[in-house]
Amino acid sequence: MGNIVAIVGRPNVGKSTLFNRLTKSRKAIVNEVAGTTRDRQYGKVEWCGQEFSIIDTGGWVVNSDDIFEEEINKQVAIAIEEADVILFVVDAMHGGTDLDDHVASILRKTKKPVILVANKVDSNEWQYAAAEFYSFGLGDPYTLSAINGSGTGDLLDDIVARFPKKEEETVEDDIPRFAVVGRPNAGKSSIINAFIGEDRYIVTDIAGTTRDSVFTRYNKFGFDFYLVDTAGIRKKGKVTEDIEYYSVIRSIRAIESADVCILMIDATRGIESQDLNIFSLIQKNKKGLVVCVNKWDLVEDKSNKAIKEFESAIRERFAPFVDFPIVYASALTKQRIFKVLESAAEVYQNRMMRIPTAKLNEEMLSVIENYPPPAHKGKYVKIKYVTQLKDTVVPTFIFFCNLPQWVKEPYKRFLENKIRSKWNFRGTPINIFMREK
Ligand code: GDP
Ligand code: GDP
Repeated sequence: MGNIVAIVGRPNVGKSTLFNRLTKSRKAIVNEVAGTTRDRQYGKVEWCGQEFSIIDTGGWVVNSDDIFEEEINKQVAIAIEEADVILFVVDAMHGGTDLDDHVASILRKTKKPVILVANKVDSNEWQYAAAEFYSFGLGDPYTLSAINGSGTGDLLDDIVARFPKKEEETVEDDIPRFAVVGRPNAGKSSIINAFIGEDRYIVTDIAGTTRDSVFTRYNKFGFDFYLVDTAGIRKKGKVTEDIEYYSVIRSIRAIESADVCILMIDATRGIESQDLNIFSLIQKNKKGLVVCVNKWDLVEDKSNKAIKEFESAIRERFAPFVDFPIVYASALTKQRIFKVLESAAEVYQNRMMRIPTAKLNEEMLSVIENYPPPAHKGKYVKIKYVTQLKDTVVPTFIFFCNLPQWVKEPYKRFLENKIRSKWNFRGTPINIFMREK
């Protein structure tokens, strides 16, 4: 499972600048997702071969200059509960404040590794200014400049070194891992109950009241799968109000460890920002997706027209990724819950599919011939052949050509759509890369 790093600190110390700086250092081998909107709060970093997630809890919690102790308390509580390493950012240029002292006093009590970051040390002259932060009792302050990047490499080394040694979970690789995610009260616990047919999870009207589980293996309706630890289904945390963002942050681990996410949407509420946030996490992690529109029993108008409208509303909000199954279900009456599992299993199969190179070239080269990449400064891009990589989690296609850097997003999307129209990759993102040949 991936590690999670949380950035905390009062406003204006440079948290989001640091967040941007660290997430940019990610190597290009992992494809960027176009059109994701929640970049400020959640990103991925790759450093020395290790990939981890980084969250700027300030980006979720604080939305005004008027910062209350209460807000900071929540921010720090989330970090302590959810992160593996906490970065506590302070401002060396403007010095410490009471709020910094307050945060330090909470962080001194946690067993999680805390790295004290003295930001805005843009040049050596500012080094001395960081000395005041020794009094926090959180060890040596890391001096760096989020704006110019100095010191961030050392910081990354230290972050990676502090990740806890995790016990390997013994899960079998060829059994799919499903995560049920969604905002509070969407029906996650209920559908899990419906899947496994026993009251393993307590369902109540109060959001987020159920127990722990990480990977639990099931064999139901002929499907063999793991259910992954699911946001909101785990024990109630210390922070219970403002579940808006809290449940989203909690989803991160579940999404990261799953192959396919079953995103629960409450049919009676439609799609709201929290659903989009969770969707965007699924996208960023390039996981398989099944959308389950739950509580269908409560929907009065079930005409084809109403379903069409519902469906296009969903696809519109989730665009550009639109090729995924949507199932209208009821965890309560168990209507179509078999279909939900079946769709998840199908998406997993689609994700595993490998197209033989000969077949791929036969189909795609003629498509490319009929509609080649646009010429760039009078030069033509010639795509010579295409292959699908063998051992990737996400289906990945490499197009070999003379001028890879000139093939832009729209053409890549065109290729992706063609691939999707010829083979069934429903529910899974795919990667399209250009390589020089
Ligand atoms: P946040 O509220 O903690 O997320 O802080 P921001 O990242 O929005 O930064 C607050 C202000 O500090 C902005 O004007 C940044 O440009 C500035 N800032 C951030 N990092 C640095 C730095 O390393 N050096 C200097 N001089 N300014 C910085
Ligand atoms: P969670 O917070 O996402 O785990 O949601 P729960 O499974 O705890 O469900 C929240 C509430 O919605 C509970 O009162 C459930 O009984 C109710 N609920 C869940 N699924 C359905 C459904 O399909 N139909 C109806 N009518 N109610 C449902």
